[in-house]
Amino acid sequence: MKVTVWNENLHEKTHPAVLENYPGGIHGYIANFLKCDDVEVRTATLDDEECGLTNEVLEDTDVLIWWGHMAHDKVPDEIVDRVQKAVLSGMGLIVLHSGHHSKIFRRLMGTTCNLKWRDDTKERIWTIKPNHPITAGVDETFVLEPEEMYGEGFDIPEPDEVIFLGWFNGGEVFRSGCTFTRGHGRIFYFQPGHETNKSFQNENVQKIIKNAVRWACPIKKNIELVCPHFMPLEK
Ligand code: ZN
Repeated sequence: MKVTVWNENLHEKTHPAVLENYPGGIHGYIANFLKCDDVEVRTATLDDEECGLTNEVLEDTDVLIWWGHMAHDKVPDEIVDRVQKAVLSGMGLIVLHSGHHSKIFRRLMGTTCNLKWRDDTKERIWTIKPNHPITAGVDETFVLEPEEMYGEGFDIPEPDEVIFLGWFNGGEVFRSGCTFTRGHGRIFYFQPGHETNKSFQNENVQKIIKNAVRWACPIKKNIELVCPHFMPLEK
């Protein structure tokens, strides 16, 4: 299985806490805990030519992970077109935390993906689909502290499945783990992962991302998206 971890890699350059939490940047840290015998991982960032997401890279990617926050608008539309096409053709996509406002997520959802937010809160996550492949081995409930509050209403279309619910100590609730299907591609949105917190170090969070990569991995990818055309009757 081939995974590409994309990160805008900007907070890493200005907030020392990010590199302290995540040596090698968020992309490098996630790539490290994902790597294993049957999972090959590469990383790509905004600094790379074509954002590191060339046609060749996408054709060779089973699952793309996306972390972005302050520079969503710096990702050129032609790259977004390319990633969208890859998802519709079967590539899996995992969108983390502030990636909810990325161009690619909003494009695939077709809505604003707006939400409520506040910094530095305590979050309790509940696993509400214990028989789902993404929740395998994940605790029924676990706490992330501090984590950023993301609250409802979350302006997304109705998900295929809501598999995690988040509760915050301000009383807010959130659909913290949601799945979608677009074309032939599977999409998972997961809310934790603010850059100055340590949620990606959490064992449950790592298990969820590892499970999500396997769940989103296509049986067949690069499926040709043909226009409907006239088919003559068989004689
Ligand atoms: Zn954040």
